[in-house]
Amino acid sequence: MENRENNIVYTYGGGLYINMTNRCTNRCAFCVRQMVDGLGGANSLWLEKEPSVEEVIEELNKFQVGDYEEVIFCGYGEPTIRLPEVLEVSRYIKAHTGTQVRINTNGLSDRIHKKRTAPLLEGAVDRLSISLNEADAAAYYALCKPEFGEDSFDSILAFIKDAKQYVGHIAVSVVSCIPKESVEQCRQIAHELGVDFKVR
Ligand code: SF4
Repeated sequence: MENRENNIVYTYGGGLYINMTNRCTNRCAFCVRQMVDGLGGANSLWLEKEPSVEEVIEELNKFQVGDYEEVIFCGYGEPTIRLPEVLEVSRYIKAHTGTQVRINTNGLSDRIHKKRTAPLLEGAVDRLSISLNEADAAAYYALCKPEFGEDSFDSILAFIKDAKQYVGHIAVSVVSCIPKESVEQCRQIAHELGVDFKVR
């Protein structure tokens, strides 16, 4: 029986998710955490404190991780803020199971860590889902309010191009509540970048 009260590791829509942090460098207008406290098997994804790597692994081990197709770093914050810890947990998962590892990210880890971060993902992360949501820098800034300013959009595109060298599968995602034209423009950007596209 899986622990359905856990707010560090939780199930959602058939997937197994890890909630590493409540910190984020964006303030997206559509952020789900402004609307509900929890998702799926977690009543609340608000953390009293950020879990250590050991705590995450302890919680992971309460689940049959190998039964899941993938483990996803997501939760109520930007996982790459804790990239070293995310990579440590990823390596643990890959060493002990055949389960794939995905990070759902705002694509700003290079700005967060002030260096190229894509090379660090090699061998530890199988998939990236990168939230884009708008098709140009000004519109992205207006919708997502990144703390790094309007050129954040260009940083995300650069990160996607870089990550293609190190991560097997990359998808650009948009939320379904943005205008249809933005969805189509983002679809075109994903096509030009040579990555998958999904509306979530
Ligand atoms: S990047 Fe994700 S966690 Fe951060 S504000 Fe936007 S939707 Fe919320």
